[in-house]
Amino acid sequence: MVGENLGEDTNVLILGGEVAPTRKIIEFTGKSGGNYNMMVHPRAARGRRSEKGESVLVRTGDRLFAEVLKTMQQKADVASLNVNINNVKKTSGGDIFIRLKGKGQAQTLKNAIKNKMEEVSVTTRNRGTVFSVIDLDPAVTSEEVKAAVEKQTGLAGLVEIKLIRNTKFGGQMCLLSVPNNKAGKLRELGTIKMGWSACRARERIVPLRCYKCLEYGHSLTSCKGEDRSKQCLNCGGLNHRAQECKAVSKCMACKVDGHRMDTMKCPEYRKLVLEKKD
Ligand SMILES: [Zn+2]
Ligand SMILES: [Zn+2]
Ligand SMILES: [Zn+2]
Repeated sequence: MVGENLGEDTNVLILGGEVAPTRKIIEFTGKSGGNYNMMVHPRAARGRRSEKGESVLVRTGDRLFAEVLKTMQQKADVASLNVNINNVKKTSGGDIFIRLKGKGQAQTLKNAIKNKMEEVSVTTRNRGTVFSVIDLDPAVTSEEVKAAVEKQTGLAGLVEIKLIRNTKFGGQMCLLSVPNNKAGKLRELGTIKMGWSACRARERIVPLRCYKCLEYGHSLTSCKGEDRSKQCLNCGGLNHRAQECKAVSKCMACKVDGHRMDTMKCPEYRKLVLEKKD
C-alpha cells in the first residue's frame, strides 16, 4: 500500500467524536449511527496520509458502494470498538477503503465487519513487515504461533497473524506481520521454537502493487495500465475472487498461462523482489 493514491474521488470523512482541524470540510452530509458524514476536499485529505497508518479494504463486489457503506455503518458500531477512523474513500474500483489511526485497529475493525456482514470480503493492510514462518506442525494454531513469536522476540502484543494454512508437505505455514521498526528482532532470531520444531521465519518482500491494473512496481497515481481492479488475480475473470478461483492461472503482466502475477513464478514479480532484496 506504500505510496498509494486512491485518485480524485471525493472522500467521505467519518468522525467518531474527533475532529481533524487540518481538513477543509466543505459539506456536511448527514448523521448516521453516531457518525457525522462530511465531504472533504480530496487535497485536504491527501496531505494527512500517515506513513504509520493501517487500513481496511472492503470489497463491494456487485453491490453499490453507498449501499455497502451504509449497511456497514449501521451494523458495525465503530463507537463501541474504540477504533479511530481517519477517513473512508471510494477506490477507483468502487471498493471501500478505510484508513485508521493506531496499532491493531485494522484487525479490530475487520473482525467487526466480518462478523456482521458475511457477504463482503474484508482485508487489512498495515505497514508492518511481513514474515513467513514455515515448518509448523499440522496441529499448531495461529494463537500458539502468535504467543511463541511474541515471547521469543519480546514483541508482546505487536505480532499480527495474517494467515495460517496447510502446506503440500503435510505441515503448515503462517504469514505474520510485525511493526517495521521492530522487524529486526525477528530477522535476527531467524527461527521460532514451536514444541519440537524450530520453524524458520523469513522476511517476505512484497513489491509495491498498483490497485488499478494489479501489476507491481508502480502505484495507482502513476498507472497507465487498464483498470483490472474488478478482475480475479488468478485468471483475470470477473465476478469472483482469486481465493475461490479454480481456473488455470493466467498472468496479466506476462500475458501467459501457467502462473499468477503475484508469485515468484512470474519473472516480472521475481525481478522486483530480487531488486528489493539487495
Ligand atoms: Zn497500474
Ligand atoms: Zn479466477
Ligand atoms: Zn508473469
